[in-house]
Amino acid sequence: MLSVKNLQVQVEGKEILHGIDLQIKPGEVHAIMGPNGSGKSTFSNVLMGHSKYKVTNGEIEFRGQNLLELEPEERARLGMFLAFQYPKEIPGVSLVSFLRAAYNAVRKDKDPISLYHFKKLLEEKMELIGLSSTFMSRSLNEGFSGGEKKKVEILQMAMLEPRLAILDETDSGLDIDALKTICETVQAIRSPKQSILLITHYPRILDYITPDKVHVLMNGKIVMEDGERLARKLEEQGYDYVREKMGIKSLGLKIVN
Ligand code: ADP
Ligand code: MG
Repeated sequence: MLSVKNLQVQVEGKEILHGIDLQIKPGEVHAIMGPNGSGKSTFSNVLMGHSKYKVTNGEIEFRGQNLLELEPEERARLGMFLAFQYPKEIPGVSLVSFLRAAYNAVRKDKDPISLYHFKKLLEEKMELIGLSSTFMSRSLNEGFSGGEKKKVEILQMAMLEPRLAILDETDSGLDIDALKTICETVQAIRSPKQSILLITHYPRILDYITPDKVHVLMNGKIVMEDGERLARKLEEQGYDYVREKMGIKSLGLKIVN
């Protein structure tokens, strides 16, 4: 599904990612965890094709295609989706028209959906995620609370049905009830073949969505990888656990350094 090899990335002339390797198979849930400033959002922006980030080395293959040759829209059409850490407010563009445009754009080869049918579909998903249908006609994200903005991101994921959904700190700024609702929605809308890349600072979201694999990103490198138990360790001991382990070859843990 996704294969990243030796990915090196610069922003404004400064190298932020120093050689990332990551493979995600269909249906797998992976978590990238790391302290603030470690390069998590940089990685997700590069996957989606943000023009500010320059790939200086390495390869990314997504569903058999060279991702780095594709424009962001083509990546979306191929089934990649990014839920932003900081969703933008777009005054004057209603939630329904924004989502319908995105929906029609990723299904370019099919006939555009009628507004009537789109609204019906959207209403179903909004109910599932606990957003009142009155939000439909409001300007996108304008005046929405932090939790409502994150719900809109997941609503978009529910409508677009991506093959790989990248959730960049969807948990940050959410209270426990909103986090629970969002995670339950993600589980409910997921198809078995859909892969998820959860990017997070705190292990809490992993209480609700169990990852197959956890990667720890620090200073632009993946320094540790393991199954779900690694998230437990980080929950108990914080990132000091990783700092202490680095250099100590411990059994059962792959330490990449
Ligand atoms: P994280 O998401 O893990 O908190 P980021 O990927 O946002 O980390 O940032 C990693 C590093 O890259 C930080 O030092 C940050 O200041 C820098 N950086 C990220 N994006 C930009 C940008 N657009 N311009 C300049 N520096 C950036
Ligand atoms: Mg970030």
